[in-house]
Amino acid sequence: MPSTFLLRYGEIALKGQNQGFFLETLARNVARAVEDLGPSEVRLAFGRVLVSVEADPEAAAGRLRKVFGVVSFSRVRDVSLDLGTVTSEAVALAEEAVTRQPEIVTFKVDTRRAEKRFPLTSMETSSEVGRAIHERLPQLRARMRDPDLLVRIELRDRAYLSTKTIPGPGGLPYGTGGRALALVSGGIDSPVAAWYAARRGVVIIPVHFHSFPFTSERSKEKVVDLCRVLAQSTGPLDLWVVHFTEIQRAIQTQVKDALRVVVMRRMMMRVCDRLAPRLGALALVTGESLGQVASQTLESIAAINAATTLPVLRPLIGADKTEIMAQAEAIGTYAISIRPHEDCCSLFVPAHPRTQPSLDETQRAEAALDTDALVRDALARSERLRITRSGADPAAIGPVSDRRAEGTR
Ligand code: ATP
Ligand code: MG
Repeated sequence: MPSTFLLRYGEIALKGQNQGFFLETLARNVARAVEDLGPSEVRLAFGRVLVSVEADPEAAAGRLRKVFGVVSFSRVRDVSLDLGTVTSEAVALAEEAVTRQPEIVTFKVDTRRAEKRFPLTSMETSSEVGRAIHERLPQLRARMRDPDLLVRIELRDRAYLSTKTIPGPGGLPYGTGGRALALVSGGIDSPVAAWYAARRGVVIIPVHFHSFPFTSERSKEKVVDLCRVLAQSTGPLDLWVVHFTEIQRAIQTQVKDALRVVVMRRMMMRVCDRLAPRLGALALVTGESLGQVASQTLESIAAINAATTLPVLRPLIGADKTEIMAQAEAIGTYAISIRPHEDCCSLFVPAHPRTQPSLDETQRAEAALDTDALVRDALARSERLRITRSGADPAAIGPVSDRRAEGTR
């Protein structure tokens, strides 16, 4: 027997003329999230998304928890819009809940009536059903605030009943917000930043700067694993692994050490500036948090930002490290991020990086670099990997060469 889930969305309800686009995208993403579990059917009904799927309900719920745009959802039983049927189903659900969890002592019935032809109001339905539950289970007390058991009844095309509400991630459906390159390092912050951008509907294209052999294959695998976690929410991702070794070498030999990190980050911006138009990306996403390290002071950010014409989204700019860590834990990236690895930045970080570099002195410090040639070479030696929730495949394209980007510089 298939399990049915009723999904609630939030902000989408406020989208005027575009609502259809947001809802269709949400329904498509929901269908994709469960498609490999078994046959499923997704439909939009009366301000909710309904999913029936022939699969283990726990497995299905695990997938639905990650779909952006879903505020909360419940596994539901649906019955006809008839007070007697609704009441007996609600009583049965309450009995099952109490059998499962004998510690339940308080309860509440919450009714939403979207179908106004139903003869009773929401309030009347709740009290009628509540009375019947109390009659069958006299040990239960009604309690409006924070009840142990919440029986939800939604009266729509049919009556949908549930006793468990599972939180979703919120946000907007993935794919409704344009595209951005997400700079993913292997640290704690950047995967969280990428997740936040994706949660607002932005399609993310992860970009990782890899400095083999200064950084090992393992540090690349770590980024792949992080992207796999993100792919649980977004669907397949195209990870770009940019060959950063020569740029690192050039910086190390030609830039004075106190300004190396800022120059390195400016080189990352330049590479992205070249890559973004080719992939239709309109912005960059980084894991910067104001003041966290020397390269994230306002002065450093200004100097780094000046190397790109793209808007740089920094979802974590005002977050404390402890908050970022908690969020990383919640989305499942933390355990991967704390695996030991060599970071291309930390490898070359001098003991005393400048915390307030001016743009002027940074530009002078990097004047010896042939930035155009370095960027072109780094991209030509990059690889693209297609990352799914279950693994990584090198995509068809291999090394990158692109005349269009070169021609339009
Ligand atoms: P994270 O935890 O994300 O590594 P961080 O606090 O270590 O961040 P930095 O090393 O200063 O910060 O990097 C700032 C941002 O620059 C990162 O959040 C990430 O978006 C980007 N970045 C840094 N190194 C790389 C890399 N090797 N590849 C891709 N992006 C990078
Ligand atoms: Mg880092």
